[in-house]
Amino acid sequence: MLPFPSSKNSYLHWRRTKIIATLGPASKSEKKIAELIDAGANIFRLNMSHGTHDEHRLIFMRVRKIAARKKKNIAILLDLCGPKIRVGEFENGEIEIKSGEEVIVSCDKTKGMQGLIPSQYKNLYKDVKKNDRILLDDGKLELKVQSIVDKQVICKVIYGGILKNKKGLNLPDSTISINSFTAKDKKDAQLAIELAADFLALSFVRDEKCIKNLKKFVTNAGGDIPVIAKIEKPEAIQHIENILTEADGIMVARGDLGIEMPAQQVPLIQKDLINKARLHGKPVIVATQMLESMITSSKPTRAEVGDVATAALSSADAVMLSAETASGDYPVLAVGIMDEILHEMEAYQWRNGSFGEADFDKCAELMEGDRKAIARAVKTLAQELKLQGIIVPTRSGSTAKVLSADRPAAPLIGVSSDEKICRRLSLYWGVVPIHIKEQITHDWQGLCNKVSDMCGLANTGNRVLLVSGFSDDPALNEPVLKLVRINTH
Ligand code: PEP
Repeated sequence: MLPFPSSKNSYLHWRRTKIIATLGPASKSEKKIAELIDAGANIFRLNMSHGTHDEHRLIFMRVRKIAARKKKNIAILLDLCGPKIRVGEFENGEIEIKSGEEVIVSCDKTKGMQGLIPSQYKNLYKDVKKNDRILLDDGKLELKVQSIVDKQVICKVIYGGILKNKKGLNLPDSTISINSFTAKDKKDAQLAIELAADFLALSFVRDEKCIKNLKKFVTNAGGDIPVIAKIEKPEAIQHIENILTEADGIMVARGDLGIEMPAQQVPLIQKDLINKARLHGKPVIVATQMLESMITSSKPTRAEVGDVATAALSSADAVMLSAETASGDYPVLAVGIMDEILHEMEAYQWRNGSFGEADFDKCAELMEGDRKAIARAVKTLAQELKLQGIIVPTRSGSTAKVLSADRPAAPLIGVSSDEKICRRLSLYWGVVPIHIKEQITHDWQGLCNKVSDMCGLANTGNRVLLVSGFSDDPALNEPVLKLVRINTH
């Protein structure tokens, strides 16, 4: 059993689970961005569903400026909206639809009115069939297709309510023919390349082909940006192994996932996706409605606290805030509360000597040889020798990524001379990115002393483990493990 910590314990040193905060009207000012970083945000998300390129460019540069001023490795993720389907606009901004009545979803270019809902997706009438469900406004309203006449889809209202302009429309029973990487996504990806964003997320991924298309686009345009696949469609769950092979990480996008699939299945899907992503050595983000009530309340509900806790206990790499920080009344408080919940859970995990679910250990047997053996050895050494840290000089981030996936107890200090790599490391569970001016490859003792000093681990006599030499290509793996006693005098 490891020493009993207070929730912000000195053995724990740093929070392991990372926090992603979405920026928007409530948080885009310099002052708020600085406060969000101080409260614990590791990554900022820019949601391409809203705002112009000029607005995103301005916020992006602001984040870079403030992060540089604070000497923090803060990453920026641009979230591409993918083929999100929405209703069009209504003559009076909204209509009311009543349970039991008949309405028409029209694929013609028209304004909506009572009984007539315009679809922005012009092929909707080709993709749906009789008895398919059409869900509106995050699934709050539900229609059932009765018949299709020309470009008009005649529906019965199952659950009615108020429907406002441009609300989301989901087709959980239909196979959608629209490409997952849309013309708008291309323009937005171009912006990400221009700005050298740290991550791109793609919405409504169906299979690995969507990821390949986006990656090819980025490479052909001269960019180098890791791609996160947002898992929010049943097809993505079916193709998850191939998606995990192709993507650089995944997001459990529970908002749309809980509409496209029965909501009661989402918790187990979340657990399974976390474990699967770890087996692939890829980071996994849990997103949406984590502290939803904090959009208007200064306190989260107990259920929300439990939700953030569950994500930490099942060892997600990161948890994400959406409207809570983008447009809520308490963006900084929401990050602060998330930080406290995560600390509390991680202190518990520390005490029990295990970060992550027992389920994972069962499937980890499937992980390939070298990587598993060395990551396990590092984890065991860190725990049994109560090491202060695992120092990981990393050129591409691969070594830190491999070790992070096994969730060792000691903090992973990812050291790189490349600021871009340091920012990317900010997504991985337990990795503390440290930027040094030049890559030291010969003097391990000197490197450990210097890095321990920089991040406050340097009590003379403390031991750290240096690990180096993992490559994404198993043929190039030449791992080095060295126990180093810190000596800063
Ligand atoms: C989601 O649906 O959970 C999600 C993260 O996507 P978005 O916020 O883009 O709707």
